[in-house]
Amino acid sequence: MIKFPTTKKIGIDLGTANTVVYVVGEGIVLNEPTVVAVTAEENRVVAVGHEAKEMLGRTPGNVVAMRPMKDGVIADYTITETMLTYFINKACGKSRFFKPEVMVCIPSGVTQVERRAVLDATMSAGAKTAYLIDEPLAAAIGARIPIAQPAGHMIVNIGGGSTETAVISLGGVVVHSSVRVAGNKLDEAVANFIRRKFNLLIGETTAETIKIELGNAVPAKQDSGVSKASISKNPVILEGSQSTPMGSKAQNSPLEKMMEIRGRDNITGLPRSIELTEAQVNEAIMPTLMEILDGPKHVLEQCPPELAADIIDKGIVMSGGTSLLRNLDKLMTDVTGVPCHVAADPLLCVVRGTGVAMENIELYKRSIKK
Ligand code: ADP
Ligand code: MG
Repeated sequence: MIKFPTTKKIGIDLGTANTVVYVVGEGIVLNEPTVVAVTAEENRVVAVGHEAKEMLGRTPGNVVAMRPMKDGVIADYTITETMLTYFINKACGKSRFFKPEVMVCIPSGVTQVERRAVLDATMSAGAKTAYLIDEPLAAAIGARIPIAQPAGHMIVNIGGGSTETAVISLGGVVVHSSVRVAGNKLDEAVANFIRRKFNLLIGETTAETIKIELGNAVPAKQDSGVSKASISKNPVILEGSQSTPMGSKAQNSPLEKMMEIRGRDNITGLPRSIELTEAQVNEAIMPTLMEILDGPKHVLEQCPPELAADIIDKGIVMSGGTSLLRNLDKLMTDVTGVPCHVAADPLLCVVRGTGVAMENIELYKRSIKK
């Protein structure tokens, strides 16, 4: 069968940590870290995505690996535009006859200027038409929440740069909050803790690995009543090792997880390693977790009573990469008093929702800006 070229419809989740691209009719075609490596002098792009992320903190003097998005908004316009062009070209393939229609998802808390910047960058990157959709709405559609119902649904999307909370009813956002605290701030908290407590400097990639391996919002001793005496030094997970058999085993065992961390001594300047426990990581991230939970708490306080009653009934749905932090749903339930659960494929909810909205643009017209 001859396939005639048509205008492609593309949905992009332009996240602080990851950029995911969905092509209508094809599904998710790209999922890469939002990182770009450029030459220091000419600002020429050397690598984008996975390849650039591996360079973070490891570049020679003439190359800089950077994240063009910060706290959910464009921090470096030119680099973001270059990155979008790269992703759009990659998604469209070689034979590009018609310019694509592109819908980009942005945090609900961004300013008019920031919205304009995303639209302009998308148009300059080669889109025929550019649309914007609010992140909580896209996340809700992607989490398969029936948003058109005359009932309140609450979604909390916790990504790398921002935590977006919204109560949605009849297809629209009723109350929302956007806090610019999320996964990246948790990584910073881990790195700062290790620097203060052990005088050890670690890079951001190592901090993220520690958070993912050892991070636990409700650590074992509170979780299952396991006493401190049962902490063992045996399960050591070596930093940098890909497989985490020890980690997954330790999750359900009474043993507290530990990890050997390598970095540079802040005083001697020499490489050194320390052992870090789950409880210590919890101590490091707890204040930041509480800041993250301020968003959902605030939204619940402002929610009209009828909708609040619906939410107690249906529970809160969480999405975004940080919702994968161990037991964060439990902590959210404890703090808000409302049952809470994580959506299926939390990292992909936003892009799926953006793709579905792009596909059914008439249906979601009210929630989309051009
Ligand atoms: P964004 O939309 O801002 O790009 P994502 O939704 O892609 O963010 O989520 C990325 C964030 O999720 C990162 O901060 C990453 O460290 C965090 N993350 C991913 N997996 C896990 C995990 N298993 N536990 C804790 N945090 C995680
Ligand atoms: Mg996101």
